[in-house]
Amino acid sequence: MEENSENLKVAIRVRPILPIDKFQDSVVYLEENNNIRVSDGDHFIAASYDRIFPSDSSQNEVFGYVKSSVEGTVKGFNCTIFAYGQTGSGKTYTMFGSDWEQNNPAPQVYYKQPQNRSIRKYKSASPSHMFNDPSKYGIILNSIHHLMEYAEGKSFTFYCSFLQIYNEKIYDLLQNATRDKPLNIREDKVNGIFVENLAEYVVQNAADCFYLLEQGDKNRIVRQTRYNHHSSRSHTIFQILLESDKANKRGVLKKAKLNLCDLAGSEKYDKDSNMVKEHIQEMTLINKSLSILGKVISALGSQNSAHIPFRESKLTRILQDSLAVNTRTILIATVSPSLEYIEETINTLKFADRAK
Ligand code: ADP
Ligand code: MG
Repeated sequence: MEENSENLKVAIRVRPILPIDKFQDSVVYLEENNNIRVSDGDHFIAASYDRIFPSDSSQNEVFGYVKSSVEGTVKGFNCTIFAYGQTGSGKTYTMFGSDWEQNNPAPQVYYKQPQNRSIRKYKSASPSHMFNDPSKYGIILNSIHHLMEYAEGKSFTFYCSFLQIYNEKIYDLLQNATRDKPLNIREDKVNGIFVENLAEYVVQNAADCFYLLEQGDKNRIVRQTRYNHHSSRSHTIFQILLESDKANKRGVLKKAKLNLCDLAGSEKYDKDSNMVKEHIQEMTLINKSLSILGKVISALGSQNSAHIPFRESKLTRILQDSLAVNTRTILIATVSPSLEYIEETINTLKFADRAK
């Protein structure tokens, strides 16, 4: 069993060396007491974190680390999990998994309730089509799969939404018709802070989630990088809102949010790559919002947090009510062990160190 007495946990996950890595030597050394050391003679860092996942750690082990925080949502604790790291270091692998793009039956939308929130119900997809092997999937599917079982008999409704933040604008990944129209953040007494008109789907099982993830993922904004793979240029938040069907004695419905965030790749300015203006602007906004996220997380973790700059980025503003109260926050920083990425790896470890 993992300890879960703290509200903030910072973990590092090292991915394996891959055949496509230019340098096949590892510069990452794992030591006792969750200490990690990175060095190649010129560069050096050593630091310890709440947990380090070595390159052979399984999806089950990583899910095991976040499991009790995910379960906490049933008791009303918000839970937010971030995957942070450079492009190609394993963020999407950690959140989504390696093998989740399959043919899934499309659930059928049959109900939409117009109000500030845009709630949709649909006939559930057949669960038999997937999730026969949880070890293939990342945190998102494992969480929903587990939550459904864990909350069995407690009558909760699960609402899922999936958004991306690109260049500080919010887009719904689950509404094709309006997916190019930026959405606004609103705040009111009933809903707290919420994204206006974001589609929320009622889900019954991990298969429903699977389908939504797959649909939404097609709409993510990606860019070819010099490493020749698709780099995600947006932050995404897959959110599951749990709402108890029965009100408590005071007539209040118990609610909690599980926020699963795959952050845009942190990137350093590369003077040799002929970056176009658009790309530079994109990178500047990504780095700015990541830096505000770092400040918010570290302010939350420290005792004297007079001013927390939630409003300075869309990401932290959307997550404000989840991060500020009744919160379990987990940052998983992903790194590549290859010598090729040593500077980025050191930057990621520094970010994670500041967040603690
Ligand atoms: P990111 O989302 O950070 O850009 P990805 O998750 O897409 O990176 O990972 C890049 C590549 O590395 C993918 O091919 C992925 O399957 C592989 N990979 C990442 N992490 C692991 C891991 N822990 N074990 C095995 N392969 C991994
Ligand atoms: Mg990715």
